[in-house]
Amino acid sequence: MQLKSILNRVEPLKSFVYTHAIFVERAGVEPFTEVEIKPRANGRPICSGCGKKRPGCDRLAARRFEFVPLWNIAVFFVYALRRVDCPKCGVTVERVPWAEGKEHLTTTYRWFLARWAKRLSWKETAVAFNTTWDNVFRAVKHAVLWGIAHRDLSGIEAIGVDEMQWRSGHTYLTLVYQISGVK
Ligand SMILES: [Zn+2]
Repeated sequence: MQLKSILNRVEPLKSFVYTHAIFVERAGVEPFTEVEIKPRANGRPICSGCGKKRPGCDRLAARRFEFVPLWNIAVFFVYALRRVDCPKCGVTVERVPWAEGKEHLTTTYRWFLARWAKRLSWKETAVAFNTTWDNVFRAVKHAVLWGIAHRDLSGIEAIGVDEMQWRSGHTYLTLVYQISGVK
C-alpha cells in the first residue's frame, strides 16, 4: 500500500489530492517525509473570511504543515495556498481542511499531541514525538479552547480535572475535561 493510499484512508481530502510523497534523507538532518498536495482541477478555493467558494487569484509560496509522524519519521504536507478574490472580504487566503490559519501543525496532529499530553507530561510528549514543548503546549491550548467553544454541560456526567505545571516555576494551568466522549 502506498503512503498516499494510507493518507486517503486516514485523512481523506475532498477538494484536494495527495500527488506524491518523498522520503528525504540529508546529512545532519533527521529523515522526513514530504507529501505534496494539489487542489483538484476544477475545485474553487474557499475564502477564509466568509467560508464561501470564491475565484482564486494566485498562489503563495509552498508551505509545510506537520502531520502525525509515521514510524517516528516526521511527515509534512506541502501545499501552496491559493489567494482568493472575495467580493465580500477582499483578497484573502483560502481555507484548507487540514490546518487552521497560520498554524503549521495540521489539526489532526494537534489532536494527536493533545491526547498524548493527557497521558504523558508535555515534555515527555514533545520528546516522544520528536517535537517541541511549544507545539505540545499549543496543541493542548487548542484542545482546551475547542472544548470551551463546544461545551454542552447538559450531557456531562463526570468530569476530570488535571492541574498541569505550566513552563517551569509555579504557574499552574487547570484542564477540565469530560471523562467520557471527549474528543
Ligand atoms: Zn469571503
